[in-house]
Amino acid sequence: MTPDRDTIFALSSGRPPVAVAVIRVSGPRARLALETMAGRVPEPRRAAFARLRDRSGGEVIDEAITLWFPAPKSETGEDVVELQVHGGQAVIAAVLAALGRVDGLRPAEPGEFTRRACENGRLDLTAVEGLADLIFAETEAQRQQAYRQLAGTLGKQAENWRGRLIEAQALVEAGIDFSDEGDVPDRLLGPALATARSLRAEIGAALADDQRGERLRDGLVVAIAGPPNAGKSSLLNRLARRDVAIVTPHAGTTRDVIEVHLDLGGYPVTLLDTAGIRDTQDPVEQEGVRRARARAGMADLVLWVTDATAHPIGRDPGEGTVRTWQVRNKIDLVEPALKPSPSSSEGDFPISALTGTGLAELIAALARHAGAALEGAEASLVTRERHRAALRKVVEALDRASGEGSAGREDIVAEELRLAARELGRLTGRVDVEDVLDVIFRDFCIGK
Ligand code: GDP
Repeated sequence: MTPDRDTIFALSSGRPPVAVAVIRVSGPRARLALETMAGRVPEPRRAAFARLRDRSGGEVIDEAITLWFPAPKSETGEDVVELQVHGGQAVIAAVLAALGRVDGLRPAEPGEFTRRACENGRLDLTAVEGLADLIFAETEAQRQQAYRQLAGTLGKQAENWRGRLIEAQALVEAGIDFSDEGDVPDRLLGPALATARSLRAEIGAALADDQRGERLRDGLVVAIAGPPNAGKSSLLNRLARRDVAIVTPHAGTTRDVIEVHLDLGGYPVTLLDTAGIRDTQDPVEQEGVRRARARAGMADLVLWVTDATAHPIGRDPGEGTVRTWQVRNKIDLVEPALKPSPSSSEGDFPISALTGTGLAELIAALARHAGAALEGAEASLVTRERHRAALRKVVEALDRASGEGSAGREDIVAEELRLAARELGRLTGRVDVEDVLDVIFRDFCIGK
């Protein structure tokens, strides 16, 4: 930590007006800021009442709860001050202005507190990602996933893998560097390759997760598609219970893809209204159609909505083999005698977006579908493409190392193990070459 580093401050709580606003200050001059504005510094980590002044001895701005977290036991690892003030616009503005007048303080940039926490070793990269996910989590399962990530599920596992890799690498390198000396066994490749193989199996298992972690993080995508006027927008509005799409009797009014995020039993489902899927000459609409097709093509599930009073239209909603459910809308207009039974076959839903008939069945089926696709995903190690890409590189390097076999070249094996360890270090943001030497000297007591 550099002592001449800027001290940063920011409003850390939500948009005013609110009951309480939390303003954080981090850096070497945080204490000075507190002394200047509150007149005194409370016991570490103990809440203390204070009147905040716009400068030493100046006019009172507000009454506050102040907290003092001396480094390194703080959120950022630096000296941190937290001010809890009344959450009014003018109060917050006055406190921030007063902080800005303290020498050496400046407003924080986005993410700067977390960045400092990461730089000071308080959080590794995967935990930083978990923190971001926790803030954006919309459903219970997403919250659990994000919290695990923040608490170090992947970070600790990656560190464990990396530690074992470095030991294996140390074995091989000891064999290379000290092969003339009597106190190191000649061939250490066998045990090192055994470690590489078991790591390969563990990491391979973590990758063979059907991408459930990413799917939970992103939410399952369900595209609502079908011919114009079938009632797609009406269905979306019904499902979302708020007006998000324009419902109109004229065809082709929904020009773009509209997203609605649903929480179904704790699992996130993103509904896409692709009402624009139809042939059109209008260039703006054509673009909407193109996007609608693309997103529907990537969806986990398509709800193909048709007008039950019209001739059946069995057009394929998207490219590829996306699972599709038939939703026959407007059954309120169908003669009672012709009405399909509500206990219809799987993937076939007679509904009325107007009256709400059949919607409970459709929502229950969606919830079951989301549950089946995402259950247990909160425990996945891999939650982002970044993790997956890094772990794939590790696996590839381990495969190349194993490919050498126990009669293989030590320098090649050592290099592949080094690459694999480096990838894991990049995953957590902790690449450090010193460890290898540490392990060599610790395990072999060469003592020179
Ligand atoms: P979209 O083009 O597929 O998005 O269709 P809209 O949601 O805009 O609906 C087209 C028209 O059908 C509108 O006039 C709706 O009010 C009407 N509509 C939608 N769903 C139903 C339904 O279940 N029953 C009846 N009677 N009309 C509906």
